[in-house]
Amino acid sequence: MDIIQAELDELRRICQKSVPDSTLITCALAQVRVQIKKSDFTCVTACFTFPKDYPRHNILIELKSKTLSVKLLDGLVKVSETEAQKHLDRPHILPMVKFINKFLDENPLSCCADEISEVKAKLDGEERLKLSQKTASMSLFLKRRQYFLKLKFAVPPNYPIQQIQVVNADSNFPRVFRVWFVAQAQEVARRCVEPPLRPKPKAPPFKVRPSFGSACSFLIESVHRYPDEICQICRQKCFPEDPEQAIHDENAAAHVERVYCSHCYHHDCLILYMKTPPFEGGKKCIACKQKIYHEIWKVTPELAEARWAHEQAKNRELDEVVDFLADMGDNLVKPS
Ligand SMILES: [Zn+2]
Ligand SMILES: [Zn+2]
Repeated sequence: MDIIQAELDELRRICQKSVPDSTLITCALAQVRVQIKKSDFTCVTACFTFPKDYPRHNILIELKSKTLSVKLLDGLVKVSETEAQKHLDRPHILPMVKFINKFLDENPLSCCADEISEVKAKLDGEERLKLSQKTASMSLFLKRRQYFLKLKFAVPPNYPIQQIQVVNADSNFPRVFRVWFVAQAQEVARRCVEPPLRPKPKAPPFKVRPSFGSACSFLIESVHRYPDEICQICRQKCFPEDPEQAIHDENAAAHVERVYCSHCYHHDCLILYMKTPPFEGGKKCIACKQKIYHEIWKVTPELAEARWAHEQAKNRELDEVVDFLADMGDNLVKPS
């Protein structure tokens, strides 16, 4: 009993001093509770219970956190109890507080442990998610057929209050797609942390959500989808089998245009479709019937109609000239 009393006294004296991020909440024979707080999100309460034959038997540890994943905490309890075995016959609690504190310092990605497992479960084949605890960053490699996307994410210290950041990207998708993947992943992440400017009526109050999993879900879905996507006009695969043959020139006939609803059209297939009637109510996507929005085609239905009429008139004029020349030819050949 004296040993435990001495340990409790020592904890009261030096716990907060030796681990500045710790707060001694309860310090009694029945239980010792210490909170270790790295940020609002990375905060753990360690509950220690003395076993009967303490300190000949290791201290019993329970970890609680409102934000860190249960799986991570379970793992941390296991390694902590193994660590406690090294301190038998001596006080356990302070070394354990230091150990847990060090773990949280050295594993800044602990704050997204659940998201990491979820993302990993969605990967297949050569795809992978590599963690770098040292730099608080993660590298995601996605691949479908021969097309790949490689992204590096930085996890800010106050994640998830602040969103995940894309710091690096490489891909053999055409440039427009690579740029869109990155920009849209950032946008998906931003929406997790910033309330909408015009919230929907009756929408529940905005709450920050972790952004890493959401951004990755978007990327995984897109990289798995687009290499197999077909052009809605010619029904051919949009992208060539070999990424080396992919069209990067945005004005080329076979350049792949992704319209607002996310469906794809070859550049020339889209132009042909947009220029052909009917125009009433605006041109709609063949696959999903949503109105087509695309930056190369900011044209009202009226203007499209007018252009089409103009083109038709020009064609009629040309036809007339051709007929006229033909008539003349006939006249020349056939003597009257
Ligand atoms: Zn096409
Ligand atoms: Zn569509």
